[in-house]
Amino acid sequence: MAEGVQHFDVVVIGSGAGGGTVAHALAGTEARVLLLERGQMLPQEAENWDPAAVWQQQRYRPDETWLDRSGREFRPFVHYVVGGNTKFWGAVLYRLRADDFDPVEHADGVSPGWPIDYATLAPWYDRAEALYQVHGDPQDDPTEPDRGPYPYPPVQHEARIGRLVGRLREQGLHPSYLPLGLRDPGLPGGCILCSTCNSFPCRIRAKSDSDTMCVEPALEADNLTLWTGARAERLVTGADGRRVEAVDVDLGGERVRVHASTVVLAAGAVNSAALLLRSASDRHPDGLGNSSGLVGRNYMAHLSTMMEAFHPWEVNPTVFQKTVGINDFYRAGNGYDYPLGQIQSQGRAHGAIVQAVMPALPRWASNAWVARGVDWLALSEDLPRPSNRVLVQADGRIRVDYTPNNLRPHRMLVGEVARMMRRAGFWTVVRHSFKVQNTTHQCGTLVFGHDPGTSVLDPFCRSHDVENLFVVDASFFPSSAAVNPGLTIIAQALRVADHLKTNDLDLSAERAR
Ligand SMILES: Cc1cc2nc3c(=O)[nH]c(=O)nc-3n(C[C@H](O)[C@H](O)[C@H](O)COP(=O)(O)OP(=O)(O)OC[C@H]3O[C@@H](n4cnc5c(N)ncnc54)[C@H](O)[C@@H]3O)c2cc1C
Ligand code: SF4
Repeated sequence: MAEGVQHFDVVVIGSGAGGGTVAHALAGTEARVLLLERGQMLPQEAENWDPAAVWQQQRYRPDETWLDRSGREFRPFVHYVVGGNTKFWGAVLYRLRADDFDPVEHADGVSPGWPIDYATLAPWYDRAEALYQVHGDPQDDPTEPDRGPYPYPPVQHEARIGRLVGRLREQGLHPSYLPLGLRDPGLPGGCILCSTCNSFPCRIRAKSDSDTMCVEPALEADNLTLWTGARAERLVTGADGRRVEAVDVDLGGERVRVHASTVVLAAGAVNSAALLLRSASDRHPDGLGNSSGLVGRNYMAHLSTMMEAFHPWEVNPTVFQKTVGINDFYRAGNGYDYPLGQIQSQGRAHGAIVQAVMPALPRWASNAWVARGVDWLALSEDLPRPSNRVLVQADGRIRVDYTPNNLRPHRMLVGEVARMMRRAGFWTVVRHSFKVQNTTHQCGTLVFGHDPGTSVLDPFCRSHDVENLFVVDASFFPSSAAVNPGLTIIAQALRVADHLKTNDLDLSAERAR
């Protein structure tokens, strides 16, 4: 496949939320685009929806370990396939709240402002929601930023959840519909609103992931080429170090050098930082694009706790449960001096998932337990710290030195969920956190900003140091906010693609070289 093809106008590395979206935006242009994906196409098979295969056998997780700050190995919660982590996401596609773009005072310090404001990104949020078919309703959410209607109506709560929402409203809370990226939910040929969505791939390709919504349709254009099993190993610069000239790729075990006029890196916040560190050279001794010393630093991943409200006599018949968001504690107020975070209902737990966390529990007991539970996720913002960082060891292994912060407000948020559930009639609420091993919302390792001394990328995600290098995955986040990151990655990827098309893809000049 690689033979004879050695130069592309744009090489995009990684096909997840950022990379898949950029590839889609460049499809049909005059640019010859190569999309490199280290994984393969995910097969559509019975195991897609099998909790034991996904959670216990970890069928779709790479056989790769990273090291934590103590040097202990852990298996990161990542997926190397076409579509990346979006194949497994819950497709909860929130915009950041307008004030997330400003500095915000938190219990453990100030969450920094972004170099762009909400109004700047809003037009691309509109396009991102249309592209990923987001269903929602801005009415009931007290934190929803200024916006028009969602492109698609919200997914309605099932009966049990609808009654619970009523009980939460009686407590003075403001539960709202979760914004969800699903294709034709409940309609013939569309999403069947099943119980194996979040953390599972969709067997019928009805989830709005970047493979289904972007890569597959983009491949119909003849200017896009996809290489799977193609792991970018190193970016090679010219003699002056100002431009990337080529990408060294491990293509199924064979080393291939691909020349590129523009490189768009989107390998995920940890792998993108690692790739730049591995691309050190005489001109860039501390890693490519690292004159600020910030490549790999300020790693964030959200504080998250999975919770299950339990009632021994009430079986929960809900199938698709992920429809409710509660943002009453997103900002200071409601009795708290600082923001606590975001609450959302989760996909249904399954006995096999509980057993993956508590292997000693017999299957009948875990099945009986989850049948009587309603599942929730509490998410809080963690703050950027230079000491929380991604490193590449001398032996090439990735190490994530991460000490979580802002824990107190997260504990308070978890306490609020437990209390609101008990007030709503549940007997008890169990909780579990994967802590440092939860890399699902990784971000912040290559922050964007105006000042080359305090950021790695400019506000269009171009490297301050390397003029034809862009990064469009979650690395650019200066703060993690407390809503799910996906839609913001997609919106910024669309914005960067427009910028590229206008400012960088001078194709006639490229071809004349
Ligand atoms: C179980 C789960 C549930 C989630 N739920 C939600 C949700 O409901 N809402 C939400 O907004 N977010 C959710 N997320 C997070 C969301 O999926 C990520 O924030 C998002 O996918 C990150 O996009 P990205 O472009 O940064 O990286 P990714 O989507 O991870 O894509 C990176 C891609 O790069 C590839 N790659 C890596 N290294 C290389 C290399 N060297 N060469 C070539 N290719 C490479 C990877 O294989 C992958 O395809 C969830 C994540 C998980 C795992
Ligand atoms: S059918 Fe719908 S709910 Fe089920 S996995 Fe697919 S997108 Fe998710």
